Amino acid sequence: ATPMSIMVGTGRAAQLGVLFRKGEGLQQLQKARVVAFDKTGTLTQGKPAMTDLILDDDFTHDEVLFLVASVESRSEHPVAHAIVAAAERAGLKLGTVTEFSSNPGTGVSARVDGRLVSVGSRRHLGHLDFSDFSDAIDRLAGEGKTVVYAAIDDRLAAAIVVADPVRPTSKAVIAALHARGIKTAMISGDNAITARAIAAQLGIDEVRAEVLPAGKVEALRSLHADHGTVAYVGDGINDAPALAEADIGIAVGSGTDVAIESADVVLLGGDLKGVLNAITMSRATMRNIR
Ligand code: ADP
Ligand code: MG
Repeated sequence: ATPMSIMVGTGRAAQLGVLFRKGEGLQQLQKARVVAFDKTGTLTQGKPAMTDLILDDDFTHDEVLFLVASVESRSEHPVAHAIVAAAERAGLKLGTVTEFSSNPGTGVSARVDGRLVSVGSRRHLGHLDFSDFSDAIDRLAGEGKTVVYAAIDDRLAAAIVVADPVRPTSKAVIAALHARGIKTAMISGDNAITARAIAAQLGIDEVRAEVLPAGKVEALRSLHADHGTVAYVGDGINDAPALAEADIGIAVGSGTDVAIESADVVLLGGDLKGVLNAITMSRATMRNIR
């Protein structure tokens, strides 16, 4: 590739809001056999709202929401923002949080006014018995909603349901990738039922769910081994290592510093159609060169 053609291609892409940080990305992207996407904040808007708080009989709504929102006020995760917003809507004032700890990709724990509170996935609350909640939860997860659980003083107190709508362009972008002969995959830390439901709505070929942040790197290696060149599209929340590992890392949405640092391509404005524009620009540039 000549430096001049790379420069021209990079400049044209920038006019479309697609920033190639290095010439390398522009040259590699046209080889992509698979585009893998993060779910939360990438295929979805990443602005979930709490829709249901399903309580164990021994706990009350405001008590649980107060405790959980207090802990989540210390987390940057989209699920945490949804829970804090619900507490604000209910007019609850948050309590004093001590001994806060966070397990990226599973959940958070802390003490609030002396009580021990944990919020997160089943994995985060490992040893508790979830059977009382199962039927209702599986139905909601089957609609693509995310379900997390709250434990208070080591007892399961509630299931918390949040809905995070898919971005308006996600489905069309997946279809357009398939039309260009490119496979699609989703790599998500969320529960398998939820991830599969969203993937089915969007027509995505392959789903890897309940993947911890470090596991996203493993998942990309295995996609690369199975199919060849892999592009990964993520928002940088818990997936900066994946953006760096992929053959081409594409950062979308949040525009956090860590996402931009880790990525080869940055999509301004957060529209996933930028993925198609980026591939088009890469193909056009490399065609001119040959
Ligand atoms: P994704 O891959 O979908 O972007 P993450 O890896 O960020 O998801 O998180 C995976 C899962 O971990 C979430 O679906 C949720 O169940 C749980 N989780 C992570 N952080 C939190 C938090 N602060 N509060 C509640 N649950 C959390
Ligand atoms: Mg994400």
